[in-house]
Amino acid sequence: MSCIYLDNAATTALSPGVLDAMMPYLTRVYGNPSSQHAAGRESRAAIERARSRVEQALSVRSGRIFFTSGGTEADNWAVLGGARAMAHRGRHIITSAIEHHAVLAAAHRLEREGCTVTFLPVDDRGLVSVEAVREAVRPDTALISVMMANNEVGTLQPIREIGELAREQGILMHTDGVQALGNLPIDLSELPVDLLSLSGHKINGPKGVGALYVGKGAALEALLLGGAQERGQRAGTENVPAIVGMGEAVVQITADIDARTAHIEALRNFLLEEIRARIPRVRLNGHPEKRLPGILNLCVEGIRGEALLPALDLKGLAASSGAACTAGSPDPSHVLLAMGLSREQALASLRFSLGEDNTAREMQAAARILEEVVAQLRTF
Ligand SMILES: *Cc1c(COP(=O)(O)O)cnc(C)c1O
Repeated sequence: MSCIYLDNAATTALSPGVLDAMMPYLTRVYGNPSSQHAAGRESRAAIERARSRVEQALSVRSGRIFFTSGGTEADNWAVLGGARAMAHRGRHIITSAIEHHAVLAAAHRLEREGCTVTFLPVDDRGLVSVEAVREAVRPDTALISVMMANNEVGTLQPIREIGELAREQGILMHTDGVQALGNLPIDLSELPVDLLSLSGHKINGPKGVGALYVGKGAALEALLLGGAQERGQRAGTENVPAIVGMGEAVVQITADIDARTAHIEALRNFLLEEIRARIPRVRLNGHPEKRLPGILNLCVEGIRGEALLPALDLKGLAASSGAACTAGSPDPSHVLLAMGLSREQALASLRFSLGEDNTAREMQAAARILEEVVAQLRTF
């Protein structure tokens, strides 16, 4: 790609090592993992190897990782399957206003099925308060779903505290860890969560694969029916190459997490300095400290926001207005609105999300491009 790619929260480049790991399963090894012959057994063994690699990277006991078609399916499964399996306890769900749409839409589906959902507010930095969770808990609360790290502004949530609260009360605890993986150390042997969603393509793995961690004893109904795959919990012939790629991607991204995040964070801070030095009236959206290393969400005051991204794109700079899945629609980000930004401010905001391949030169060039585009848009 010849553009400056600062949209790694939307998706990342496939790592060459991941492609190498996948290649045999896109070509020579094509047996159905459920088949009772050598070709099938070879595919089956590859899946189980990938599973143990993910389990080891997250300090999970064997058999607690279930592969899915991505982060969306993992989120849908956790929320719908978790709430349905906990219906004996009650039909009240707690989540936050800034979740990914894969969680929010599933929560809205549960409302249509007769559940009551509390959508917790956030403060102006995008933080959910543990006290607010405590106050929202009712005797019939079945499930709490709060994300580890927000994909638009990067704010990190107090998952340990919320999880402890859930555990005390016997409430099922789900967290969307899609953006957290590779950016924060995740040790599931000591983190009090029951369900955790992951995605392959946000960590230099392939698209169309993800995973759900299901803690021992966690209640969960299956969503996909009609086969014994994934120990009867998720029917459908497995995407073997993608699962192998996911295993390799998780190992790679968690291997040198400190060096990787330090590099990305330094680049992000440099980008912010460069922007601030060139462009007046730019505000940081999100938490000043408790945030992902690679995300820089900015509000550029006094511009028509709709014109911003297309203008950057024309100059070869790939950024985002927030969630990629709502791009193209004129709706302002639900995350920024929940943080108290006005419609105009939310529309005049943009997200840069960095990856490990970005360079300091690119940060300078990106700041220069943004300066030109903002100067144009502000004269209108
Ligand atoms: C990308 C993303 C998802 C969805 O994952 P897919 O694999 O694209 O379906 C879910 N949650 C968060 C926080 C994300 O960033």
